[in-house]
Amino acid sequence: MNKDFTYYKELTDKLESTGDLTDAEFEELLTMDDPAACEYLAERARYVREKVYGKAVYLRGLIEFTNYCKNNCYYCGIRCGNKNVERYRLSEEQIISACDMGYELGFRTFVLQGGEDMFFTDEVMVRLIKTIKGKHPDCAVTLSIGERDKESYRKMREAGADRYLLRHETADKEHYEFIHPKELSFEHRMQCLRDLKDLGYQVGCGMMIGSPGQKIEHLIKDLRFLQEFQPEMVGVGPFIPHHDTPFRDEKAGSVDITLKILSIVRLILPEVLLPATTALGTADAKGREKGILAGANVVMPNLSPTDVREKYLLYDNKICTGDEAAECIRCMSLRVSKVGYEVVQSRGDHINTIPSC
Ligand code: SAH
Repeated sequence: MNKDFTYYKELTDKLESTGDLTDAEFEELLTMDDPAACEYLAERARYVREKVYGKAVYLRGLIEFTNYCKNNCYYCGIRCGNKNVERYRLSEEQIISACDMGYELGFRTFVLQGGEDMFFTDEVMVRLIKTIKGKHPDCAVTLSIGERDKESYRKMREAGADRYLLRHETADKEHYEFIHPKELSFEHRMQCLRDLKDLGYQVGCGMMIGSPGQKIEHLIKDLRFLQEFQPEMVGVGPFIPHHDTPFRDEKAGSVDITLKILSIVRLILPEVLLPATTALGTADAKGREKGILAGANVVMPNLSPTDVREKYLLYDNKICTGDEAAECIRCMSLRVSKVGYEVVQSRGDHINTIPSC
């Protein structure tokens, strides 16, 4: 068949109406380079996101509270093997005051993200979560602190944590093993995701695009995994090399493929919460705007104190490491409104999990 615009348009229409394609058809979409066809895919993703969420873009205040990490992931700048990182840990007071400041600025979701830092035991996390939820009961608390055991996830959930972000990174076991050291297992990562879901968290998984060794077939496996797992959130961003990691000389992931994946994810999971990530904004100066125009509906400005921002470097040239939170939110709102959307002050729950009250 002649692969012209009409061919790709039909594939996109089929994806929109059925939420599914064959592997070969997914590959066609992921490899097409016809600009009109790429724009059509983004346009259908926008249509679907607007049907579900209108023009709203949800804000999540990201607090990067520790860059200590016991893991040694080959792609990540805060891996324990990187001796050039100046390590920091925010105190409980600093974390709470970042939330208080975020609240004043209009944030209703706080994302506590960090390396896997054993200093933050279940007891510390439970205390933190209870304090934040106690002070701001109208806010959602999202955790992004890696792999823990189910009991730990349970305690934090019972303390009031609402959501958990744990990217699966890649749905292919061999590829997972290629980008992680042998102490980390694909099975355990997947088990964590199932445990989190079991415990009633709104769960976010996700993957880097263009991580070393990634093939189109791996991305198709990621899409199949999303269809099966049905996460409430999906974090997708391009891989960006960090100069102090084993992957320092690898190529960055493609912005265009990332945008296509965002649109495809929106068409597979119409209600999903889909951030336009900082990595996307780093790989392309207009990356987050392009992400929103490709179907994303969440942005995550940084609420961490400015003096630690430079130290939470997962990859090189990370943006927004110098701005005050108030400046970040102003800049984000402006960027979002310039492309015709609107930042809103709300918890922005997954549409199917808003508590009925
Ligand atoms: N320790 C937590 C939080 C990890 S940081 C956890 O394990 O979930 C959040 C995400 O940043 C990671 O899941 C990974 O997908 C992404 N990341 C790490 N290094 C990156 C890099 N070099 N380029 C792009 N994204 C990266």
